[in-house]
Amino acid sequence: MSAINVTGSFNVAKFGGTSVANFESMSRCAAIIENNPNTKLIVSSACSGVTNLLVELANGVQDKTRRSELLRQLTEIHHAILDELADPVAVEKDIHTILDNIASAAEAASFQSSAKLTDHLVACGELMSTHLLAQILCERGTQAVRFDIREVLRTTNAFGKAEPLLDEISSLAKEKLIPLCHSQVVVTQGFIGADREGNTTTLGRGGSDYSAALIAESVQASGLEIWTDVPGIYTTDPRIAPKASPIPEISFSEASEMANFGAKILHPSTLVPALRHQIPVFVGSSKEPEKGGTWIRQKVESSPLFRALALRCNQTMVTLRSANMFHAYGFLAKVFEILAKHKISVDLITTSEISVSLTLDQTDTSGGAPELPEIARKELEELCTVDIEHNLCLVALIGNNMSESKGYAKQVFGTLEDFNLRMICYGASPHNLCFLLHESVSRAAIQKLHKELFED
Ligand code: ADP
Ligand code: ASP
Ligand code: MG
Repeated sequence: MSAINVTGSFNVAKFGGTSVANFESMSRCAAIIENNPNTKLIVSSACSGVTNLLVELANGVQDKTRRSELLRQLTEIHHAILDELADPVAVEKDIHTILDNIASAAEAASFQSSAKLTDHLVACGELMSTHLLAQILCERGTQAVRFDIREVLRTTNAFGKAEPLLDEISSLAKEKLIPLCHSQVVVTQGFIGADREGNTTTLGRGGSDYSAALIAESVQASGLEIWTDVPGIYTTDPRIAPKASPIPEISFSEASEMANFGAKILHPSTLVPALRHQIPVFVGSSKEPEKGGTWIRQKVESSPLFRALALRCNQTMVTLRSANMFHAYGFLAKVFEILAKHKISVDLITTSEISVSLTLDQTDTSGGAPELPEIARKELEELCTVDIEHNLCLVALIGNNMSESKGYAKQVFGTLEDFNLRMICYGASPHNLCFLLHESVSRAAIQKLHKELFED
């Protein structure tokens, strides 16, 4: 098994939703934890599917039958695990209290939903799964305790996409978390935190990876393990291209590019704290730990020209056109002033003489495509015409020294000659080439490109 084995401080291990989906999966996680005595801090996601159910409730379900159905599903998932416990009474009450809390918050959301209420609701998934995982560990003979990470993971109050407050997290971890880890295994929640007033916040969908890295940083962990449902990082999502192959070792910068460009395997911000503290990261499958996985490190042996393909859907492209832009100065400055004023974060950008196309960033918990706020659109329309396109996906080819290599653009675009590419970003980064295309053809484009660039 490929767990991290460094003496000194301890490991942090994160288990994703499918890894803690049910009793059997949780037991596999427990075996992985028990296998490495150096693993002291466990960060868990909600059981698979739970966050989606909670997001639907948080968006406000007026139909009472549907609401009851969602609550029934949530109860069923957690009861199925409770039923397998040797001593369900130890955690039953805690789970019921949270389920009751969900029912009343869901009713409140059906009248009026809000980002704050959404975070309060969606956090319940991790709050429940950690009770169950800690209990399973205890029943197997491991000394384990559940810890509420809201006592340590201090964030801004930007509900749905809260930002960590690093100094506060670090001192709270020293005071409350590190001492606990010396004598036992501590099981805590990914994805969630709390603002200074004690309100529950979340780091955005898929945020448990990021939580785990922030927590690893705060306790100065010797390693971070991300246990998921695939044995490592592949050359592309193996669900899209079945011939994708695992990458045994990858640099922080390559893996960060992959995460940033949507490879769902890691939340985009995950590697920032790990890189800051040079914490090696291991990604493996909790179902097949014997298969090994991917090590993410600062220095790696090989730096191939093509490393991987990533896909990020739900892209919104905004195209701004103005004849006044031709040979004029200050136009882009005005555009960005408006975007900055409304706190709109831009992801990619390309320009021509009279137009500029850009895509909008998205990270919050609500899901769906990012929208240009109406007020910003109106202000931009005073300057130029504004076109908005949805249902686009971003494909990124990630590699090394790409700006110094000849001929590969011809290979990439030749392979994609039958596809209508909507926007291309090429040359700005030595590590990637990316483009937008319509959602309906995005998987086919990845498959074709993967075959050409990564399969023999
Ligand atoms: P978890 O619930 O453990 O956080 P996720 O579903 O968020 O798991 O991420 C794991 C999934 O990421 C895989 O099942 C796979 O479909 C997807 N994925 C996307 N890109 C890649 C890649 N390059 N390598 C491996 N998996 C990838
Ligand atoms: N449970 C959260 C989600 O589904 C966070 C995570 O699993 O990473 O988005
Ligand atoms: Mg994930």
